[in-house]
Amino acid sequence: MDAQLQTLIDLQAFDARIAALDAEAARLPRQIEALHASLAEARKTAETVKARVDVTRKELRLKEKDLEAIAAKRAKLEARLWEVKTNKEYSAALLEIEESKQEKAKTEEEILALMELQERLGAEVREAEARFTTREEQARHDEGVLRKKLGEVEQELAVVRAERASRARDLSPGLLNDYDRVIRARNGVAVVSVTAAAICGGCRVTIRPQALQELRAATSPMRCESCGRYLYWQD
Ligand SMILES: [Zn+2]
Repeated sequence: MDAQLQTLIDLQAFDARIAALDAEAARLPRQIEALHASLAEARKTAETVKARVDVTRKELRLKEKDLEAIAAKRAKLEARLWEVKTNKEYSAALLEIEESKQEKAKTEEEILALMELQERLGAEVREAEARFTTREEQARHDEGVLRKKLGEVEQELAVVRAERASRARDLSPGLLNDYDRVIRARNGVAVVSVTAAAICGGCRVTIRPQALQELRAATSPMRCESCGRYLYWQD
């Protein structure tokens, strides 16, 4: 095979590898970001439940104060029973005591409900925190794996780029220029094979019989008349 053509084929292999490694080097940091986002979400969930526990604790404290106020009021009402002068006043005081009893019962029920809620939320907080801890450990591990992989990809990229640059020196500057232009214009594929089916491996156009003969002789690099890619014959 023509030496120039062989160099083009090699360059294409290097460039395909570089493109794949570039894509990987771009993808890995996004995966690391996704890990951080998922972790932040788990932290937020735990904090939301914790905030609800705080609200419940405050409500409970207020209700307990209410209960104290009700007890104080009740004591006053009971003391008044001894001071009233008329039956009417006595009945009114008894009625107020009855109302106060109902208020106390209602507040006690509310306190009980709040205590149950507090207990349930406490369990939720513990679950959410445990989930967060597990996820944090997993994320730390996964991030380590991804960062190591990224380091390897970057290292390999440097090696392949150097090899590519070295191989590129085997090509005349004019041909290298053309190759670079084609690979940019043709989505990273500048050199394609032609098989017995006689179609361009890039754009699938049929190669003319005469061009096919020249291609099989492979005396110099040939380009597809349709897409401009470099062609090589493959049995
Ligand atoms: Zn073509």
